[in-house]
Amino acid sequence: MYQLEDIIENFDLDKVRKAVIGEPSAALFTFDITPCQQMVWRCIEKWLARDAWVFKIEATEEHFTHFNGVAHGITDLRGTIVRPFKTIEQAYVGKTFVLDWKTSRATLDKTWEDRLFDSWQWKLYASYYGAGLVFYRGVNDRDDTRELILEPPPDVSAETEKQFRQILEYRNTLINNREMPWPRNMPSACGAYGRECKYQEDCRTEGYVRDYVPVSSVNAPLSYSSMSRMMLCPEKHRRYILEHQGTGPELADTEETARGRAVHRGLEEVYKQLALLQNEGVL
Ligand code: SF4
Repeated sequence: MYQLEDIIENFDLDKVRKAVIGEPSAALFTFDITPCQQMVWRCIEKWLARDAWVFKIEATEEHFTHFNGVAHGITDLRGTIVRPFKTIEQAYVGKTFVLDWKTSRATLDKTWEDRLFDSWQWKLYASYYGAGLVFYRGVNDRDDTRELILEPPPDVSAETEKQFRQILEYRNTLINNREMPWPRNMPSACGAYGRECKYQEDCRTEGYVRDYVPVSSVNAPLSYSSMSRMMLCPEKHRRYILEHQGTGPELADTEETARGRAVHRGLEEVYKQLALLQNEGVL
């Protein structure tokens, strides 16, 4: 097992710091970046030495489309398990793993684990890559970190495809029929996750945007978050599609997701460097 102090000297940490800050032109929010830098460092301290030992990194921030264009996603980290370690048994050596970073303001407790376990996201990753294990890594700005390791069931692919296909067909029916608004899940969805929906006033006053979602959108696969939004409230998803047409992900950010992206950029740089060091035989 590597010790962090032995391997960290091979890393360009200045490049990591700059990655967290990102491109000045893309910054829409002015917030203190220090907690984001600290979260990246916490992940380095907690996991980098172990990951360098247990994983062979093969890809970072990898886009994929699955089930013949029904679903799409981005994996933070993918590779092969090359050594056993504590909870990672010998039987997993040689298998593919997928890893997803989760920045959070919430406490990383059993509820956090249960929500991730219940999500379709890791099942989509597992299905696409035929992964033996999926890792969720949580970090928040209160010094907490937590890891959840999940082993996909044998029928993960069939179940996940069915879920995405059914919701895609529902969305496409609404688009093709030029429905407007889409079904509004009032009031159950309007205060979901403790936040008032930004479209609530429109829905209450029938003041919603009277535009159709373009029929060309029928060909767009569903991401995990689109699927979740569509299930929560179709009208919310319609408004999201209309609002974000033609904008890139940075423009579609809220401040909270922008913070998450900053941490992700830093960790992507760390693991790109790890992949390079592994390929060069340094680690
Ligand atoms: S769009 Fe928002 S406010 Fe309207 S019904 Fe859906 S969740 Fe509620």
